[in-house]
Amino acid sequence: RLHVPTPLAPDAAVLPTLDQSRYLTQVMRLKIGDGLLVFNGVDGEWRCVIAEALKKGVVLRAAEQVRPQTLGPDVQLLISVVKKSALEFAVEKATELGVRRIRLVVTHRTQVQHVRMDRLDAIAIEAAEQTGRMDVPMIDEPVKLGEVLDDWEAGRRLMFCDETGGAPAGPALQAAGGDPWAVLIGPEGGFSPEERERLRALPFATAVSLGPRILRADTAAVSALTLWQAAVGD
Ligand code: SAM
Repeated sequence: RLHVPTPLAPDAAVLPTLDQSRYLTQVMRLKIGDGLLVFNGVDGEWRCVIAEALKKGVVLRAAEQVRPQTLGPDVQLLISVVKKSALEFAVEKATELGVRRIRLVVTHRTQVQHVRMDRLDAIAIEAAEQTGRMDVPMIDEPVKLGEVLDDWEAGRRLMFCDETGGAPAGPALQAAGGDPWAVLIGPEGGFSPEERERLRALPFATAVSLGPRILRADTAAVSALTLWQAAVGD
């Protein structure tokens, strides 16, 4: 599986990047005539392609369209913009755990101002290739938490991870079965009392505890998504 940066016209040559060519020839030992699956996040299309030339890198000729398998259950990660290493870790692990969309939120106590979206996209693509996903999660630019809640998608449930306490996550997840979910993780300083009050009053939200200890935001994201995966994922 390989994510290529250009849309895949039916019989166009697909030119992987230099790094990808090196990976294909040196790591995967690709030979002329070998086939492999490539996908392009832009059009979400998959193609089985055949390696044609291995001289100056790899030329791949798109051979046939491959319909991606149906995507699994729908979960989003809403995470406060935390410091770079924690956010990059959370994006990589959320991609491995099947998140469909990652929404960066700005909360009252969010301290980080600037995010390198291109870096996060690259991490998600690499994690999607490594984990063998048929898609790459979309990552949204940071938006105020209040605005996200004001414009909430009907039918999606919210797993509000509250470090001050909440219900055990498993039963809440099982009770809602295959509904689309979103997991919300706060910043290093936690949610403000006003945010907590609003979140606990939302009809579509369930405040859940991830255990008696305070987890770092990236650990909390992995923990919550693993609980979701165990309860309703596939
Ligand atoms: N304000 C907290 C404190 O006392 O230091 C730290 C917040 S924690 C670093 C960041 C986020 O991870 C929290 O807002 C929450 O969403 C999630 N989180 C951490 N530990 C949790 C727990 N035991 N249960 C539920 N959520 C947790």
